[in-house]
Amino acid sequence: MKTSSLLLATTRETPADAVVISHQLMLRAGIIRPLAGGLYNWLPLGVRVLRKVEAIIREEMNKAQAQEVLMPVVQPMELWEESGRAEAYGPELLRFKDRHQRDFALGPTHEEIITDLVRKEIRSYKQLPANFYQIQTKFRDEIRPRFGVMRSREFIMKDAYSFHMDKDSLQDTYEEMYDTYNRIFTRLGLDFRPVQADTGSIGGEGSHEFHVLADSGEDDIAFSSDSDYAANIELAEALAPRGERAAATEELTKIETPNKHSIEDVCDFLQLKKKKVAKTLVVKGATEEHPVVALLIRGDHDLNEIKAEKLDLVAEPFEMASDEDIQNAVGCKAGSIGPVNLNIPVIVDRTAAHMADFVCGANEDGFHFTGANWDRDATQTLVADIRNVVKGDPSPCGKGKIEIRRGIEVGHIFQLGNKYSEALNATVLNENSRAQILEMGCYGIGVTRVVAAAIEQNYDDKGIIWPEAIAPFQVCIVPMQMHKSPRVEEAVMALYNELTAKGIEVLLDDRKERPGVMFNDMELIGIPHRIVIGERGLDKGEIEYKHRRDEKSQDIPEADFISFLM
Ligand code: ATP
Ligand code: MG
Ligand code: MG
Ligand code: MG
Repeated sequence: MKTSSLLLATTRETPADAVVISHQLMLRAGIIRPLAGGLYNWLPLGVRVLRKVEAIIREEMNKAQAQEVLMPVVQPMELWEESGRAEAYGPELLRFKDRHQRDFALGPTHEEIITDLVRKEIRSYKQLPANFYQIQTKFRDEIRPRFGVMRSREFIMKDAYSFHMDKDSLQDTYEEMYDTYNRIFTRLGLDFRPVQADTGSIGGEGSHEFHVLADSGEDDIAFSSDSDYAANIELAEALAPRGERAAATEELTKIETPNKHSIEDVCDFLQLKKKKVAKTLVVKGATEEHPVVALLIRGDHDLNEIKAEKLDLVAEPFEMASDEDIQNAVGCKAGSIGPVNLNIPVIVDRTAAHMADFVCGANEDGFHFTGANWDRDATQTLVADIRNVVKGDPSPCGKGKIEIRRGIEVGHIFQLGNKYSEALNATVLNENSRAQILEMGCYGIGVTRVVAAAIEQNYDDKGIIWPEAIAPFQVCIVPMQMHKSPRVEEAVMALYNELTAKGIEVLLDDRKERPGVMFNDMELIGIPHRIVIGERGLDKGEIEYKHRRDEKSQDIPEADFISFLM
């Protein structure tokens, strides 16, 4: 392709509202453009990258005998009522009515739809196991879309759903998907870790997340340097052996909320509707004056609605308050707060159905408590089991020390068991011709998020450095004075045609721009291999080559060039 026919929408300025590097570079390199909050246009360069990611995923899924399907983005609410998630999913599910006043939603995930399809189409155990996948647009009305396509409202996901007669078969496919995911992320050129994970709102029995290691990640993951042990920190802490620190935190769990600070008082205090607050908790450091340091808020609640002034903080939304403000207000140090990662001691329950093992705010440096369990009946007490994992602790598996890094969740696999199949009565006839409820697994990859995550790991001060496998073009040719020199033009076109014929994707910069402008653009958009052709090189029978990661270019004899490049 030639730049003259490509929308090369590069800009020099760093957009002010983009805080993470991938978001900045995706805007600057002309990969994406914002449309509205959490909605993005993908420009031609970006689509090329997306299609590469999809192709790798598709190839590996097909190799694992998964079958591609395509399900509608618009989903009838009846199926969500049937599964019981209509209520539980909360406001991330965007609902609307059609002209006949029927209820629909934009699919944030497709368990209900695939289970409905399978219960209608699959009759016999002989047709199982089966694994269906799609690469499809999802919509989640994220409370706080951020970091560009890393957490957008509309995004592309590869989601797969497997169906089985028994748990052994589910386990087999789960392991096969685990291996497939490892192959996919390896081929994508990412530095990633599979980690044990909490099953969260989707529910189920076993689960792993795949995290790309990057400081901008929203999750903390813990892993052992000397073994395969790795877990999302929420789970890591629940599994951690009780060391001295754990003993210290145990005391904490025993502090009871004074009766006079009832839920009513707290709601009053924060002007919250009562039904949204399930429990309150007082932790070490709380004072009479500032009793409430942690709240469990049911459902996906917009914390911006809760004005910080209610906690005697500066009149800004909570997340804007500094640690010091919070410390002054609540009498203890603030920490990182679990699912929404706000810098305030508030626990947000994303689904009312999920009532265990919360992350709660740290109130001492380096502490990050999880596994906080709430007793539904004893209204005022935090029941037990707050544990905490810190860097350097022995690994729960006994080998090595815990390392803690930030991770971007790019994939997630679950053993769902019969959660959905039971609710939707998805049965098939077994060997004895009896109807039997199916076992189910589900497997997701955030396709659009992968693109951002790849940039988080591959960039320098000049721009993106695409991993080879997902680069929009593998090679760029930057000609010197092509428009003035027929000789340069001839050499450039010959090479362009030869490489293209060999199936290499080449971007030829045929603009009448200064070399500096062309070099800068090609570096910004991150093409791995750069070729420069000019009179001077041709005189010497050489072609200038530079890899995007190289400091300096090198001159390669013309005759050897193709074999050098391939
Ligand atoms: P997160 O914890 O980041 O909110 P999730 O656990 O809600 O993600 P899953 O339900 O596991 O997401 O969906 C499968 C994959 O879809 C995730 O691993 C992630 O890569 C991707 N994904 C989820 N939400 C978004 C989003 N808002 N924007 C882009 N990708 C997303
Ligand atoms: Mg989510
Ligand atoms: Mg998650
Ligand atoms: Mg997940």
